This record gives sequence, C-alpha cells and structure tokens, in this order.
Amino acid sequence: SDTSATDPTHEPVAVRESTVSPLVPDRVTGPLATALSQLEGAIQRLGYDPGMHMMLASPRREIHVAIPLRRDDGTTELFHGYRVQHNISRGPGKGGLRYHPAVDIDEVRALAMWMTWKCALVELPYGGAKGGVSIDPRHYSASELERVTRRYTSEIMPMIGPEHDIMAPDIGTDEQTMAWVMDTFSVNRGHTIPAVVTGKPLQVGGSLGRATATSRGVVHSTRAALREAGLDLADVRVAVQGFGKVGGPAASMYAEAGARVEAVSDENGGVHREGGLDLPRLREHVAATGTVVGFDGGDPIGNDDLLTLDVDVLVPAAVEHVLHAQNAGDVKARWVVEGANGPTTGEADAMLTERGVTVVPDILANAGGVVVSYFEWVQAQQAYWWTEAEIEQRLADRMAQAYAQVAETSRRENLSLRDGALLLSVRRVAEAHQIRGLYP
Ligand code: GLU
Repeated sequence: SDTSATDPTHEPVAVRESTVSPLVPDRVTGPLATALSQLEGAIQRLGYDPGMHMMLASPRREIHVAIPLRRDDGTTELFHGYRVQHNISRGPGKGGLRYHPAVDIDEVRALAMWMTWKCALVELPYGGAKGGVSIDPRHYSASELERVTRRYTSEIMPMIGPEHDIMAPDIGTDEQTMAWVMDTFSVNRGHTIPAVVTGKPLQVGGSLGRATATSRGVVHSTRAALREAGLDLADVRVAVQGFGKVGGPAASMYAEAGARVEAVSDENGGVHREGGLDLPRLREHVAATGTVVGFDGGDPIGNDDLLTLDVDVLVPAAVEHVLHAQNAGDVKARWVVEGANGPTTGEADAMLTERGVTVVPDILANAGGVVVSYFEWVQAQQAYWWTEAEIEQRLADRMAQAYAQVAETSRRENLSLRDGALLLSVRRVAEAHQIRGLYP
C-alpha cells in the first residue's frame, strides 16, 4: 500500500543478517526501518548478542484480519486490520488502535515496538502492542465505523484481554471506539470487562484526566527540557503540527502556561501569528468548522512551512516521518518535542542532533497517554476510582522521573535524549527476558 503520505523519504535501511526472520523482512522502509535502526543502535551500545537482537526485532505475535463492512447503502467493502504484540515480557501488550488509510503491517509493527520501549521507559508493567485498520474514517458514518470496530474486535478476540493485550485510542479512533471494543468483548464473554481497553468514556469506567494525558505529558517534558537551559514556557515561542487529540490540548496548555503559540496546523493546513495565536478563539473556530484553516486571528501557513518556522519549540504531533533529510536542515527551533510517534527519520534525527537541536523523543515526550491508560487499567481492575488531582499528580511524578532518568543517562553516556531513552528501555526489556529465561 502507498505510505507516501506519512513517509516522503522511503529511506531504505538494511537490517543486519542476524535479525532476518519471517516476521522481519531484511529490507524495510518507512517507520519500521526507523524503529529497527534505533533498536540496532541500542543493541550495539548495550553489547547484546545477535540472538537478543533478533528476539527484540521480531514481533512476538501478530494477526492480520479481513474486515467486511456492510455499508449504509447496502454495498460491501473489505478492510485489512492488524494487531501486533511486539513484546509481552514485562506484562500484557499495550497500545493504541489506529484508523488511517496509510496503516499497513509494517507501520503497526513499528508502532508496537515503540510502545514496548515507551512502557518500559516509564516503568509500566506492560509490553508493547499496536493495532490498525487501513480505513479513512472521515469517509464513513458512525454506524459504519461501529460495525468495522465490532467486527475487528471479534476477529482479534483471542489475542486481547485485560491480562493479554489492552487497546487505547490512537489516530482516527476515540473514546467511542473504545466503548464499542469494550462492549463487543464484554458481550461475547457474558460480563462487563472494562479493563480490556483504556481511553474509555468516563461513564463506562474511563479515567479522569485520560483524554488530556498525552498532551499534558508533552507539556511536562517540554518544561523539563527548557529548565535544563534555564528557561520556562513563558520564555518561548511554540509551533504545533497536528490539532488532534495530542496537539490540540497541548497548544492550549502551552498558551495557558504563558508560551506564545505562534502556529498550529491540521491535515488541511495551518495558521500563523507572530506574538501568539488566541487559543480560546481558535478552539471556537475549530469547534464550528472542524479545522484550524480559515481562522481570522492569523495568516495561513502550510504544514511544511510550519516545521521550519522561526520558533523555539517545535512540536510535531501528527504522523510519522514529517521531519526528514530534506527539511531537518531548515528547522530553526532549538527544541523538537515529539508528540507524535516516529515523526523524525533516522537521518533527520542525526542532522538535528548534530546541529545542537534537543529532540525530546516520542517514547518519553508522548508517554503521558499510556501512563494514564495504566492508571485507568489499575482503577478498573480494582473497581475504585481516583480523583483528578491524584491522577495529575501521579502523571507529573512519572513524567518527571522518566525525564530525569533519561537526561542523567544521556549525560553520563554522552548520548542524545533519544539514544539515552532507548538505552534505558531496551535494557529493561532485555533484562526481563534474561531473568525469565527461555522456555523450555
Ligand atoms: N496511542 C497512544 C500512544 O501511542 C496511547 C497508547 C495507550 O494508551 O495504550 O502512546
């Protein structure tokens, strides 16, 4: 399938011979190539052998399902769905469900691997997993999306569950999607099982603070990065690419903390205003029109131009590989905070680091979502719900601790924050493997 929408570069990355397995092609492109070369770097630094490398490069389990949809007009269409459990050594698989036309098995493999490192980095008792359906949800009615979701869920039923693999929202899905997954799973089991998904509506066992948790974590990690330079959010200009579940609330939080949010964009285009956009008014515009485009409180700006704008902090919070070898040299921000998963190619990452740009990597910057997912799962398992203040405090503590560990490791080992984060997380997963031992 065509992934050019998310990967303009298609940089091929050769995987070492030792990692070749039926589940990992020897030549891959796109996000999986990036994820595999990140892993390769960590394996080399940690000195693990090819056997450990191969195990961590290969998904533990994956399923590909056909999803027939009866459309509202009576015709039938077929979609491809996937669920990949990259690793389950530290606990159940955990990760989102994505509905996007560019979804394919390799993208889901990459996203599942990143979930493994993310969960290990913030010390959640989870492995990593991801699901996806290659569908453009904007072109389907709510009842069509409900049927797709219920059929997908029932096809992957044997793989999921509170102790097996727990889904959450991602691009193109939301709390309603999670309610349908939870209901389909529960009806088939004959009783209500809220802990099979996180990011649910509050009425059926969701957690306070989950909807804004990823954004809040992005802002926490931005603040932590700025503090190292003696700066505060009130001192900086910010550009946010993506105005969805991550970028939208993050833009408002930045503005509320005193930052000047000078540009935001969504898939249709963006708006720019030197000195800062009026976020409350912009949100009203988005609520009325569904897009940031056409907002009269700024000038239009394209998604590509937003990335190279003269700001201090750039927050890519949309899709993979928007920062690549062709534009990384033009990035003017001093900090790149990855709200999205995998927004930076390996080449771009090296170029940014070389130029002294601090990249706060995805597995750290956007981990707030899965942290509060974990809190939601814990609450559901105990049938006992925490206050919003408790959740916000525990989230802030986890993000601060993870940031401090990554910063300390990176300093000590003279690595970028990404390589420091990968060193910590890959080691935690590898140690879980070694301590458990191989069966039989
Ligand atoms: N989809 C989000 C992510 O990429 C959240 C995953 C979760 O909460 O399980 O981190």
